[in-house]
Amino acid sequence: MLSVNIQAKAFTNGHCALRDLAFTARAGEFLAIVGPSGAGKSTLLKIISGLDTDFQGTVQQHAQARLGFMFQEPRLMPWLTVAQNLQLVDASMAGERLAEALHSVGLNDCAMLFPGQLSGGMQRRVALLRAFSVAPQLLLMDEPFQSLDAPNAEQLRGHLQSLCRATQPTVLFVTHNLSEALALADRVLFLTAGPSRVLLELPVTLPRPRSQHDPAVQALRHELLTKHPDLLKGAL
Ligand code: ADP
Repeated sequence: MLSVNIQAKAFTNGHCALRDLAFTARAGEFLAIVGPSGAGKSTLLKIISGLDTDFQGTVQQHAQARLGFMFQEPRLMPWLTVAQNLQLVDASMAGERLAEALHSVGLNDCAMLFPGQLSGGMQRRVALLRAFSVAPQLLLMDEPFQSLDAPNAEQLRGHLQSLCRATQPTVLFVTHNLSEALALADRVLFLTAGPSRVLLELPVTLPRPRSQHDPAVQALRHELLTKHPDLLKGAL
């Protein structure tokens, strides 16, 4: 269980990014966080990860929860092979285990390649495996598939859903792609423009696994945007 209650987050220049932003997440729940650019989504993840402690409020979670993080860029070490990049966070990622992990995301025979020899989509798959290789209880994802072409992003969303089914982390997934949020999440938190707070919480109960192209996902998206045309701008 994660419980976030941020009364205020201001930067040293006085800019207030978050105010009265509160929510909880159950163990194993997949929460998507959707909000306009500059709303404070990355700031929120930094606070939850413990990287930023300069805020008023509280973040409570399972003591010493194992934390995984995946960013927009894959952030692999270019001088290390795929295997070595994974071993940096999990030294036991070798032999059969490594082969199985690579196979699960369609990267057979890539263990000895360097990041520069991989496509952007393949690098992202390594970053996804790295995030999961610590068996995270809490996984923070900051627009991880944003800069990928549509087919690659769709494949990665499939891999993410399989990995989540197998290991059941609590996930906070930041995106500004509403279809992606509705395809992946158990619940979507919509944020206001900054200073950000939660504008709307939407449980998504459509059957899984889902793709963002599923008619039911697209119908829900259409219904939401018809009811709240300014939702993605942070207003109801
Ligand atoms: P998002 O991830 O939703 O796009 P961010 O969390 O990156 O938004 O930023 C939220 C707001 O805080 C933005 O207006 C941004 O310019 C501002 N901001 C981010 N980091 C700093 C900083 N170190 N100092 C001052 N303002 C910042």
